[in-house]
Amino acid sequence: MKTRAAVAVGPETDLEIREVHLDEPRPDELGITIVATGVCHTDAIIRDQWYPVPLPVVLGHEGAGIVNSVGSAVEGFSEGDKVVIGPAFCGECEQCIAGHPMYCANFYDRNFGVQRRDGSKAFSDDQGAIGSHFFGQSSFAEFTNVPAHGVVKVSDDAPLDILGPLGCGIMTGAGAVLNVLKPKPGSAVAVFGTGAVGMSGMLAAKASGATTLIMVDIVEERLQFAKELGATHTINSKETDPVEAIKQIAAGGVNYALDTTGVPAVFSQMTKSLATMGHGALVGAAKLGTEAPVDIGTMLLNGIHISLVIEGDAVPKELIPRLISLHAEGAFPFDKLINTYSFEDINQAFADSAHGSTLKPVLTF
Ligand code: NAD
Ligand code: ZN
Repeated sequence: MKTRAAVAVGPETDLEIREVHLDEPRPDELGITIVATGVCHTDAIIRDQWYPVPLPVVLGHEGAGIVNSVGSAVEGFSEGDKVVIGPAFCGECEQCIAGHPMYCANFYDRNFGVQRRDGSKAFSDDQGAIGSHFFGQSSFAEFTNVPAHGVVKVSDDAPLDILGPLGCGIMTGAGAVLNVLKPKPGSAVAVFGTGAVGMSGMLAAKASGATTLIMVDIVEERLQFAKELGATHTINSKETDPVEAIKQIAAGGVNYALDTTGVPAVFSQMTKSLATMGHGALVGAAKLGTEAPVDIGTMLLNGIHISLVIEGDAVPKELIPRLISLHAEGAFPFDKLINTYSFEDINQAFADSAHGSTLKPVLTF
């Protein structure tokens, strides 16, 4: 079938909206009509070739939509089902079996290989094949073909126009908190970086009952917004040493911390801001080979725990429905992070996200 898709063609170059051909879904795939898709920082760093992903490619990995066709080997889905699309995983390796599919041994191939396992690509035009299956989905297209195992069915009344980012950015921040840090009620949490990932982490910490919520960033408007969302304290780390400020707010440091920046100096600050036996997690993406200086002597004496967390260590079929329930109860108002754009304005959405004026762009079709 024909579909419009946004094709990434080179680093720091606008995506090109083209009419392309989409092949038939394979037996293990669902054909999905995308209703809305988030734009994540990861789409931008792949467009810019931080990781070696072949171009041209249709990016997009926070899609929500409606099943329009069901592959012959797929069970549990019907045409018309509303779905949120999560990352791809094999379901058969050690970590998949142990309940950690975001650490699937085949995660890189399935999500960044931008082709099927048989080497085929779902999209093409008169210039040739175009990479597909980015994060198993390539959702910057009106229609796409997706391996069914990464797809999460949601209820018929679920608000598809906001749910796409649950498949990556929001799951990443919320999952790192709910699945890995697990803050105790009444505890103190610091989050470095107030983008969609950091704000989701803060909202999840609040929903868990943490009562001291410290947000750190270098952009004043974002810190103001963090306050509106429920942060109890904000620190502009351009003006104030965040480690000292955190230790003044929470005597001895915070119990839990989350670094969503991927900046080495911030990671170091996070390790120093933790109280004895504190637990910090890094989710911010860094280029391969990035090293951060940390004081392992002091960290050892203080029993500091550090985790590095992919996609919130989530099982998407388990976490996404929980986040939808929390949202419906008003306890996880992630919709406040979203600004909506029409698909045609995709490059504006990328620019606003990079500039910081939009936390979580969502494209609607
Ligand atoms: P974002 O760019 O909107 O937010 C990052 C924030 O960090 C910004 O507000 C920025 O001002 C702040 N920041 C930058 N440098 C800083 C510094 N030196 N001190 C304090 N704050 C600083 O991005 P996002 O959408 O929230 O995503 C955050 C990160 O998470 C990105 O790197 C993204 O690629 C990554 N990510 C990781 C995973 C994963 O599985 N681990 C999944 C999705 C996204
Ligand atoms: Zn696996």
